[in-house]
Amino acid sequence: MRLISKLPNVGTTIFTVMSQLANDHKAINLGQGFPDFDPDIDLMTKVSQAMMESHNQYPPMAGVPELRNEISLKVKELYGRLYDPNQEVTVTSGATEALMASILAFVHEGDEVVVIEPCYDLYLPAIELAGGRPVVVAMQAPTEQVPRYSIDWQAVRDAITDRSKLLILNFPHNPTGINMQESDLDALEDIVQNTGIFLLGDEVYEHIVFDGQQHLSLATRPALSARSIVISSFGKTYNATGWKVGYCCAPAAMTAEIRKVHQFMVFTVNSPMQVGLANYMKNSRAHLALSSFYQQKRDRLVAGLAGTRFKPLQTQGSFFLLADYSAISDMPEADFARWMTTEHGVGVIPVSAFYQDAAADRSNHQLIRFCFAKRDDTLDTAIARLAKI
Ligand code: PMP
Ligand code: GLN
Repeated sequence: MRLISKLPNVGTTIFTVMSQLANDHKAINLGQGFPDFDPDIDLMTKVSQAMMESHNQYPPMAGVPELRNEISLKVKELYGRLYDPNQEVTVTSGATEALMASILAFVHEGDEVVVIEPCYDLYLPAIELAGGRPVVVAMQAPTEQVPRYSIDWQAVRDAITDRSKLLILNFPHNPTGINMQESDLDALEDIVQNTGIFLLGDEVYEHIVFDGQQHLSLATRPALSARSIVISSFGKTYNATGWKVGYCCAPAAMTAEIRKVHQFMVFTVNSPMQVGLANYMKNSRAHLALSSFYQQKRDRLVAGLAGTRFKPLQTQGSFFLLADYSAISDMPEADFARWMTTEHGVGVIPVSAFYQDAAADRSNHQLIRFCFAKRDDTLDTAIARLAKI
């Protein structure tokens, strides 16, 4: 017998590795992205009620109809595109499953998939599993003048060929915290017109956008939404990452293909969560309040870092903040992140982990990622520890 790995270069994800290290060393975990507080009690009550009201058997394969309906209403209200709940909205086991099912459904052997790095760790292995070929385009790294990453649209344009099947976009972006502006969507529209490329919009942080900006979903542009799969996650929106419920919206013919994979990956998603979420979503208060809730936490962390030798980059959205540690050490990022966790009691993620070749010099910019989805007292304790480094 010979077991041949389909993913020979993949190990355990950096988030699991760093959370384990933080636990082992009793460090404050600002690494893996999850809140250290509970979801709204009202949401937990609604989910519990759904269970007690006998929503405990298989729901429909594509998701509970009431939930798909609420998703459709919300997306129409926010982004102006009406997705048919029956044919264009699918509830998935987290955004993770939506991403994997979409990539497996769309990418054929030898197809090229354009990915912009740094990028979320799922994309490259998923493309590999599908037999596709990732074409990686680097973002422009931050500088003194522009203290955040930015997308090089000319490089994206140059990467697209007749063999490109899919372009994966993630915004607000993990890990860099950058977001799209109207000018970015203009560039994107111009690039994809007259091509056959599909777009995968990983928009799980759609409700965490700062400084008065609006999230500009791919669904806001008819020319883009016609070729897009738009993905979100209730884990991020309702502070319930452990529930693993997300969804994707895409034109009917595209959705039909995604559902063919979805039905054999998980078939459907647990029913009481879906029923509880559908009831809770009727009120838009929670998702509309999320940006200001997290902006206060971002500002708390940025203010705290002013008393340390870490230099924060700008973050426009998501619950992540990158910081430059070049005033402290010239260690590579992975070593520095481990050292912070084991010696200083604050767990973080090296940004190099979001690159195809994490060890390469071009993937190391002396940056680490903090997650600020934490109680204020957690942030304050971490900041006090950081000030000693
Ligand atoms: N995409 C990005 C960019 C993420 O940060 C995450 C988060 N954890 C996911 C997808 C997966 O989301 P979920 O937990 O809903 O599967
Ligand atoms: N998306 C989360 C992060 O970036 C982690 C999700 C996971 O652990 N797979 O930290």
